[in-house]
Amino acid sequence: MPTEATFFLAGLFIIAAATGWAFARYSSHGELDSIPDTINADYLRGLNLVLNRQTEEALELFVEMAKIDEDALETHFALGHLFRRRGEVDKAIRVHQNLLARPGLDPEQRDQALFSLGQDFLSAGLFDRAETLFSELDKSPTLGEAALRNLVDIYEREQEWDKAIETHRELEMLTEEKSIEVAHYHCELAEQARLSGDLGLARQHLKGSVRTTSGAFRASLIRAAICQEENDYLEAAQLYEQILASDPRLMVEVLPELLSCYHKNNRETEFESYLKNIINKNPELDNIIAYAAILTDINESKVVDSCVQSFIINHGVLSSFIGINDSSSKSKQLSENDINRITDGLKTLADLIPRYRCTICGYRSEKLLWHCPSCKTWESVRPVHDFKLQNLIH
Ligand SMILES: [Zn+2]
Repeated sequence: MPTEATFFLAGLFIIAAATGWAFARYSSHGELDSIPDTINADYLRGLNLVLNRQTEEALELFVEMAKIDEDALETHFALGHLFRRRGEVDKAIRVHQNLLARPGLDPEQRDQALFSLGQDFLSAGLFDRAETLFSELDKSPTLGEAALRNLVDIYEREQEWDKAIETHRELEMLTEEKSIEVAHYHCELAEQARLSGDLGLARQHLKGSVRTTSGAFRASLIRAAICQEENDYLEAAQLYEQILASDPRLMVEVLPELLSCYHKNNRETEFESYLKNIINKNPELDNIIAYAAILTDINESKVVDSCVQSFIINHGVLSSFIGINDSSSKSKQLSENDINRITDGLKTLADLIPRYRCTICGYRSEKLLWHCPSCKTWESVRPVHDFKLQNLIH
């Protein structure tokens, strides 16, 4: 339902149009009495209908006015936009279709009407009709770029990655800027091919992802998964280690796979050395490894166990649960029972809150997403690494 503000705003548009129109006539002819009374009266009648919430009748009137009033195009575009913003898309479509049917539109006005109608269809979820209109505008000197961006939006929603790649190539030619999205589209295609068992095709798609930094982690994760499927655990482990070296926040995703690769080649001792080495270089990894181990139930590594122990002992709230409050008792080894009790509780706690958050807009999700559905940024969603233990204190 339209709100009071809708009617007020629509009224403002109409008043602005009517007075603008009157001013134009006054300035060019020098006499106020040259305003045709019929059009002036129509605007006032339209305003009256809007203010009385008779939007259907007001719409009919505006549509008729659009056919005869050469000077009111902008007003009608604004009105159509307003209807769409308020969710009255059917009315927006009628306004824009009537504008398009008007004879004598210049190419720029026609492009604007087509674009607005395309946006109406997009809002209504009629993607195929929106796609047709935006495709007509891809060479428009004024709206070509905006039309291509809307096409990309449609192809992303429909997961038509080939078309999205093609459209981005057109955008790149127009803006002379490299699109980071293309790497991710190739990753989408590679992942689809991998899941359908066509590893050769998956590798081929991955070649297209090597063009920007964005998408590199994701491509490496897919490449490592392909290596695992081909039993090349050595190569897979190297790829996982490269990913962790670049972004340790992906520990939850990578650590279980990495451990599995070392296991497959009976390299458990080397796995321990690898972990010791990265913790020596960056002691903050201790907590990140503990977090990943608790969430993914890793308990067959001494180094990982020690990370989990020190995480519990050094955490004020957790250590108080098991009676370790002073520095002397902190040197004690925790019993397996204590550790299991706490890690089970932490895992349950972590399962209650979304583990990932967009670093740009704060959108939270249950799983790792490469494209934030809220702000549409690529690779901005990352693990939170927080059990929200402060919630237990209150
Ligand atoms: Zn976001």
